[in-house]
Amino acid sequence: MVGSRLHHLKLTNMTTTTITAGDEAVQNEMEDISATLHNVCKSEWGEVSGKKIFLYRLTNKNGHQVNLTNYGATITSWVTPDKHGCKSNIVVGFDSIDGYLAQPPYFGATIGRYSNRVANGRFSIGTETYTVAANNGENHLHGGNKGFDKVIWEAKSSEEGAASVTMNYLSRDGEEGYPGNLQVAVAFTLTDDNELLIEYSGATDKTTIVNLTNHSYFNLTGDINNTILEHTLQINADRYTPVDNGLIPTGELKAVAGGPFDFLQPHTIGERIAAVDGGYDHNFVLSKKSNGLERVATLSDSISGRTLEVYTTEPGMQLYSGNFLDGSFKTSDGKTIDKHAALCLETQHFPDSPNQPDFPSTILNPGEKFQTATKYKVVVG
Ligand code: BGC
Repeated sequence: MVGSRLHHLKLTNMTTTTITAGDEAVQNEMEDISATLHNVCKSEWGEVSGKKIFLYRLTNKNGHQVNLTNYGATITSWVTPDKHGCKSNIVVGFDSIDGYLAQPPYFGATIGRYSNRVANGRFSIGTETYTVAANNGENHLHGGNKGFDKVIWEAKSSEEGAASVTMNYLSRDGEEGYPGNLQVAVAFTLTDDNELLIEYSGATDKTTIVNLTNHSYFNLTGDINNTILEHTLQINADRYTPVDNGLIPTGELKAVAGGPFDFLQPHTIGERIAAVDGGYDHNFVLSKKSNGLERVATLSDSISGRTLEVYTTEPGMQLYSGNFLDGSFKTSDGKTIDKHAALCLETQHFPDSPNQPDFPSTILNPGEKFQTATKYKVVVG
């Protein structure tokens, strides 16, 4: 009996679990079976602008669960066991779409077309100057008024192998002021090694700028009532990009040696944060051996025993210590999201690269393929 159901479930679309049996015991049994077979479950999560929003649950064999929504290609939660086997969510997010419609500061979202800042909302490509929204003082931030975090993506989940969902979006020529039709895909894969791999790709029909990242806010204790000031961080970066008052890089690549930006050896976030005006909100120049996926940072928390390893192909990483979180948002279980409740490790190209000829280029030409990847791995011990 169970065997035949198993067979049936294997033949059905692995992305959806539809249980029709009336008997409750049978239904529970089927749910158990489906849980082991369906490593991606899809459920409806509401509607925005007449388009359906879905939630995708990725699971692995170790009980990790990552929830993603096609609204903003957003990671809404990542539930992992701690050193005692107790599970909790290590990223800030909401359990309904309404939380995201209230426009939180990019919790878990995919950021684009240009992550981070562009000075004065202006950049040039060749002889052409483009103006994009000044939505952060006089500067442009995270793609503008309606960046990739606020659009609805087309999602498709894997049918076999590791749990994976790929989100696709066509950003039209002129959208938010950027030139070129840019077709983007972001694939999220949860492996049985407790890694969340995020692979970005894209192509354009007109020369444009692209810089994509994920804006997850981590708190490895799993409880945002604890701040992240006691988290320990190590970053493979011997330089960082100092900024002006509007958080625009001055252009200098400054040595971190000995100062509060020196995370070559592990330090807690809180140890030297008072020496950084406004708290950490800076891009680190990663010391990488290649353009490949390399480990660049390690964040750990002794309370839970969780460590987060960050791997990326990108040349930079923004450390943002949640300085602007001010209690105006609450988690779905009612906890106030206060200053330093969580931190972001945003792998990316450097801020304001389009206006900084000496920074690695963020230009994408027609015929070229945009391709980057970042992996977050949770280790418990
Ligand atoms: C930026 C911060 C900003 C935050 C939320 C980060 O990536 O660096 O300055 O406040 O995103 O918007």
